[in-house]
Amino acid sequence: MQTSFSAGSLGNPDIAEAETILRSCVHCGFCNATCPTYQLLGSELDGPRGRIYLIKQMLESGKSGDKTRLHLDRCLTCRSCETTCPSGVRYGRLIDIGREAAEALAPRSLAASLLRRSMLAILPYTARASIVFGLARALRPLLPLQLRRKIPAKQAASSTPVTSRARRMLVLQGCVQPLGTPNTNAAATRVLDGLGISLFSAPAAGCCGALHQHLSDPEGARAMMRRNIDAWWPHMEGGAEAIVVTASGCGLMVKDYAHVLQHDAGYADKAARISALARDISEVISDEILDSNDLGGLANVGRGVRVAYHSSCTLQHGQKLAGTVETILQRCGYELTPVADSHLCCGAAGTYTLLQPKLSEQLLENKLAALHAGEPEVIASANVGCQMHLAGASKVPVKHWIELLDRNPNQST
Ligand code: SF4
Ligand code: SF4
Repeated sequence: MQTSFSAGSLGNPDIAEAETILRSCVHCGFCNATCPTYQLLGSELDGPRGRIYLIKQMLESGKSGDKTRLHLDRCLTCRSCETTCPSGVRYGRLIDIGREAAEALAPRSLAASLLRRSMLAILPYTARASIVFGLARALRPLLPLQLRRKIPAKQAASSTPVTSRARRMLVLQGCVQPLGTPNTNAAATRVLDGLGISLFSAPAAGCCGALHQHLSDPEGARAMMRRNIDAWWPHMEGGAEAIVVTASGCGLMVKDYAHVLQHDAGYADKAARISALARDISEVISDEILDSNDLGGLANVGRGVRVAYHSSCTLQHGQKLAGTVETILQRCGYELTPVADSHLCCGAAGTYTLLQPKLSEQLLENKLAALHAGEPEVIASANVGCQMHLAGASKVPVKHWIELLDRNPNQST
């Protein structure tokens, strides 16, 4: 794609990066075929190619407005288009740059800004979010069905064991996960303990920064990232082998710290090391049991139970780990049921479920129909957002897949 930026605007590193990405697009439109919003709405501007044009026009002209914002807001940032694109267009990075520019060039209405600011003031902070979750759960019976489904039921969590193996890995607790699906990290700790690895967390770490990043508050995101790096660094120096992340959306963000902080003189080197050591839990389990071909106590833990696996976008399109969890589950004795259109987003997409409720509901209905079609006994996911979103309307239990490898779900070690 041809671009025409002034030499002055190319002095801005974000514009220069956007220009490189824009030039890699050959506007073939293959990406539209796998874009969930293009499939639902059928309009060019609600597909990746149309959004790329909108971002190009906005960055070149320095002007934005309601139309550009509408179509950029409808994007799930699922990055299915990246997986499909034959030219390697880094759409995920382009939409982040485009959204930041749109916010700066055409501020939102007061009400829309307040909603976004409230979300950023609450959700990334576990203590604050727990008050809101508590209130919402108390009011749940009084709310209409669609709202009720968005409030996660309290998960009966087992206690997180404290283990003391020679091999040690940090785990990210995150912000919403301890409230919505606390059993995930407890299960991960038990499973890794069985493989000779202790998981531990750094209490001063918190939200990975993804909520700020995707709501166009890059400085807020960088502050979260620096705080986490400071919290993890002494443990990295102390020999922690990896930073394990059990929420694929957060894992994708931590793997991106190196890129986001590349121009930060005080943190660039540390961010690069942190990103290099960030591992989705599926990578760790794969290394430990699949590469060594020793399933140990996990052989046949599944006993033929039928699982519909929902591959989160951040794992398959963002981290490019499609197939890893599926292989692990099958090798551990689970039967995977067929799931049509597994490349499509479930509609959770961070705060999308709150900001674009209609599209989110449509995607949820389609996804659950595909997941239920094979009559599974359980649905498994790799991301807290998808898990809570699906669980609100699913007719079978929805779990994080690591819980399916946990042989002692009611015990602490
Ligand atoms: S598939 Fe890639 S190159 Fe083709 S229009 Fe989409 S982003 Fe551009
Ligand atoms: S990120 Fe997802 S929703 Fe957005 S343009 Fe790409 S495929 Fe479509």
